[in-house]
Amino acid sequence: MSLSTSLEPLPRDDEAIRRALDDAHLPTLLVALAQWSGDLSLLREDLVPDTSFVAEAPYTEEQAARARALIFETLLRLRDAGLEVSPAPDRDALRRMLDHLSEGGATDDYLPLLREELALDGADARAPGFRKEEIAPDTSFRVAVVGAGMSGLLAAHRLKQAGVPFVVFDKNDEVGGTWLENRYPGCRVDVPNAFYSYSFVEKNDWPHFFSTRNVLLDYFRDCADLFGVREQIRFRTEVVSAHWSDEQNVWSLRIRGADGGEQTLEFQALVSAVGQLNRPKLPELPGLERFAGPRFHSADWDTSLDLAGKKVGVVGTGASAAQFVPHLATTASELRIFQRTPNWMLPTPDYHEAIPTGMTWLFRRVPHYAQWYRFSLFWRMADGILPMVRVEKDWAHPERSVGAANDELRAMLTEYFRESLAAAPELIEKVVPGYAPASKRIICDNGSWVEALLRDNVELLSDGIREVTETGIVDESGRHHELDVLIFATGFQPSKFLSPMRITGRGGLDLHEHWDGDARAYLGITVPGFPNLFCLYGPNTNIVVNGSIIYFSECEVRYLLGCIKMLLEGGHRALDCRPEVHDAYNQRVDRGNLQMAWGVATVNTWYQNEKGRVAQNWPFSLLEYWQQTRHPNPADYEFLSPAGADANPQQSAA
Ligand code: NAP
Repeated sequence: MSLSTSLEPLPRDDEAIRRALDDAHLPTLLVALAQWSGDLSLLREDLVPDTSFVAEAPYTEEQAARARALIFETLLRLRDAGLEVSPAPDRDALRRMLDHLSEGGATDDYLPLLREELALDGADARAPGFRKEEIAPDTSFRVAVVGAGMSGLLAAHRLKQAGVPFVVFDKNDEVGGTWLENRYPGCRVDVPNAFYSYSFVEKNDWPHFFSTRNVLLDYFRDCADLFGVREQIRFRTEVVSAHWSDEQNVWSLRIRGADGGEQTLEFQALVSAVGQLNRPKLPELPGLERFAGPRFHSADWDTSLDLAGKKVGVVGTGASAAQFVPHLATTASELRIFQRTPNWMLPTPDYHEAIPTGMTWLFRRVPHYAQWYRFSLFWRMADGILPMVRVEKDWAHPERSVGAANDELRAMLTEYFRESLAAAPELIEKVVPGYAPASKRIICDNGSWVEALLRDNVELLSDGIREVTETGIVDESGRHHELDVLIFATGFQPSKFLSPMRITGRGGLDLHEHWDGDARAYLGITVPGFPNLFCLYGPNTNIVVNGSIIYFSECEVRYLLGCIKMLLEGGHRALDCRPEVHDAYNQRVDRGNLQMAWGVATVNTWYQNEKGRVAQNWPFSLLEYWQQTRHPNPADYEFLSPAGADANPQQSAA
């Protein structure tokens, strides 16, 4: 499945090849050539790259020159030989390539995951692998998917592949979810795009390393077309409630259409793909309602308002503010930023950079290069980072970090602030956080945040807000700041999973009353008492530093399809997670989170809910989530079958 143009042959023009190499990511290109040629001797000891998270470049200049020469000569040789695309590498060859790119860090456990993630043989290994009409042609089984964002589209695609009928409901009038709703200036993804994309959709022409909102929205629109699922999406339609019928073993959904009219529809399974970060949280500030000028939340940006020449106040300095403040700073006449807690920022020099033309040129001409480039990002951003954010027992400096590696990270990030604020040392105290890195999300930065703070028309205020007046904000020092417009970059209500839908399960159990502000699910997906309810991006499936959320959705959707297959093959109506399985799992997750910086953080963080529990994050490796969700284990579930049938025959571990 592809959104790329097909591969073109390398040209006769040697100089064009040489020029393109100036822009190449050399280590991954070298591995791609090893695969293309089958010549593993290209993976020379002296050309093993530094792939660590903190490395500035994978090669020294001298290594880069040697790699470039070797690659140039190899490319000409392959071109002149007219070599076809070679088959996927065997296990030993793959092992060798991974060793080269991971400095031996990719253990054997990772091999099957990486083969999938790279789609090395072009196959889509995460496809359902069954068709409903082959295993249960006469069973009526219809799935409701709530949300047509990244994970809802993915679920729709996989259900379609399996021939399972489904309907997607979305409150908006287009696909894209968060990328449709967030349209503030500067909005873009903060995970490298080659990795923040579906593993099974080839795309080798991303314009930027980190795509802008419009590019991403187009991507998800294109994917909806490519998957052919638009006809099954009911736009401008909200799912108000869902009720499980114990008698019928179906979900009854109350649906509200664009005209406000409601209807009830029945489905055998319900998939929530509503995301975690889409219900804006507005601050409760004294006097807020008095403010006479326009005010809005960052996720509900008023594009009709021209902010040029206006005095603008921004409340909040999280990931959203960090993206739009640099833009606003150049348009507003005055910008006052009200910061409650500073954030750590990760130096990301290519954050706004276009992918150089030579690199894209090579992606289009060298087989496997785009996949290996994706892999290098995957590896660099994956599980290798976890030790830097893990709590070290008896660590001597808990007031500033959670362990030696975390302390090193802290030193590196502090230095970044010190260097970039050399011209304004008085700001350093305001912006350097006191808490350990990764207690909150670390924000990507290419220098534009500090650049904005250094402008004459911008002021960072950290005294706190006393009250809002008709014409501005009074800070805790008693200073009144005159403002024309107020923007809240105050985040979302992530702990309210699945709200505002009202969901009632077996025996009329209300999901939100049951959770009582502390959402939990097995694998983040299933909840005891709520048969055939599947959450995507549910409790404890967010990652703080390692990976892309699309990776998680791919794991979750594969698991969902595995559950449906189990139901259809077994002749069951529904499955309900066993409470003891769910509880043991959650206890382990809780213990895991207490080993991570965000689990022991005492600073404000949306990762902890009102009970102080981390209900958002996955504390373990990407590998482990993939392993746990690869095949559902029937022993984890109680099966519900038509009256009289034996619901739970022999159950065995998968
Ligand atoms: P956020 O990280 O929750 O930041 C909210 C900000 O508002 C914080 O600075 C918070 O201060 C402040 N705040 C909240 N209530 C306040 C109040 N009553 N008074 C004063 N300040 C208040 O929200 P966000 O920036 O929208 O980001 C949320 C998440 O969305 C991110 O962590 C990220 O996962 C995702 N996101 C991703 C991208 C991307 O990939 N491109 C972009 C934007 C967002 P405290 O820190 O003191 O609470």
